[in-house]
Amino acid sequence: MSIDTNTLTIAQAHADLIAKKYSAKYLTESVLAEAKKINPDTNAFAEIFADAIEQAEAADNLIAKGKANVLTGIPLAIKDNMLFKGHIAASGSKMLMNYVSVYDATAVVKLKSQGAVIIGRTNMDEFAMGSTTENCAYGPVKNPHDLSRVPGGSSGGSAAAVASGAALGALGSDTGGSIRQPAALCGVVGLKPTYGAVSRYGLMAMASSLDQIGPFAKTVEDAKILFRAIAGYDKMDSTSVPDVHPARKNFPKKDKLTIGIPESFVSLDGIDSDVRENFRVTILSLKNAGHTIKTIELPSLPHALAVYYVIQPAETSANLARYDGIRYGLSHDAEKLIEVYKKSRGEGFGKEVRRRILLGTYVLSAGYYDAYYNKANAVRRMITKEFERAFDSVDVIAIPTTPSPAYKIGEMTADPIKMYLEDIFTVPANIAGIPGISVPSGTVVRDGVSLPIGIQFMAAPFAEDYLFAAGRAVEAT
Ligand code: GLN
Repeated sequence: MSIDTNTLTIAQAHADLIAKKYSAKYLTESVLAEAKKINPDTNAFAEIFADAIEQAEAADNLIAKGKANVLTGIPLAIKDNMLFKGHIAASGSKMLMNYVSVYDATAVVKLKSQGAVIIGRTNMDEFAMGSTTENCAYGPVKNPHDLSRVPGGSSGGSAAAVASGAALGALGSDTGGSIRQPAALCGVVGLKPTYGAVSRYGLMAMASSLDQIGPFAKTVEDAKILFRAIAGYDKMDSTSVPDVHPARKNFPKKDKLTIGIPESFVSLDGIDSDVRENFRVTILSLKNAGHTIKTIELPSLPHALAVYYVIQPAETSANLARYDGIRYGLSHDAEKLIEVYKKSRGEGFGKEVRRRILLGTYVLSAGYYDAYYNKANAVRRMITKEFERAFDSVDVIAIPTTPSPAYKIGEMTADPIKMYLEDIFTVPANIAGIPGISVPSGTVVRDGVSLPIGIQFMAAPFAEDYLFAAGRAVEAT
């Protein structure tokens, strides 16, 4: 039987594998064939791993012994900033192009222990900085819905791979929207879990108070399967939250949700009118399906973007100090040590990364620390408090995922500020540490091509189940 990897879900593939309709090896071969066919167009993968078939054979052994669980034999992709022992992890950077992982990220350990097949590493904006996956040492990724457009970023390769049937699911990382935004622009589901829900051990750090690993999938159900597989306490990540922590409240199961809409935030200038219209129509259909819609106000939300672009570069400038030409990656010989640093970093890092390091170093420098970094942290606390209050009266908050559909390749690269503004709807969840999901909500037509867009739901910390419920409600409309 031939497998249509463009429509096959993880849940269905699992059922088929257990029913022995096909083997994990055959499934992996089918996905690899699709990946190899499409990759010259999309450039979603930096590398398709040579041991994918071997992993699939091991999965077939587990299935034969009756030891399969839901991810056994499922072909998945991981973002290029996650460590998979013995495989290159370059974070889309010239700096790390020859870096071979010496251990597994916890999320990778979890996938492996369940018998998942990790077929390759996906292209990304260098060190996860960007919203287009154009800042990548392996070249830009293209949106499978329109190859002249970007897939979003920074996890654009993971989104494009899932959207084109080149993986049944994928992992990405989300510091300010890097899972949800590309998911929306490629027409798949993307989840940023609660900060601390998934271990980041073995994820290359970008901005440590914001980074989270999360899944891409075709359906909300598949995203939930992947999330459950990678979540949980890990002593190797001091920010991972204990499984019995009081913050893990029990959220009662609900069929009908109360959905809050921050009206003034959604009505900001600069949001594409088709995106706004799609959002209104989606909310109306949720209302018609029996959910309660409530207008709320989150007055500090428009400031989240400014807060993000102070905190993110600050933390990034510190985290990226480790790439010094001595310990990791690209290294230049020179007479003086300072020249080794300058030459290695100057050559290894791309333009956007250098821009963020400069910005970050500036906001952390004596004299500016209080004015920028401390102030940003104070506003961050206000935003977090506003969310906390809002979740006393609503189960989820809905906003669009992006202010516009996918733009043309090259359209944003000349103007970084314009690009940063694209993150307006995704950064608030990272700032507050709350979970957010993007679910496909329809398409808008540009130049005669239908381009996907998404609706985003956010919930209180550890209320991912409400996000899945809201996402399923959208799928049902
Ligand atoms: N687009 C945002 C940035 O460039 C978010 C990136 C991310 O989530 N990794 O910083």
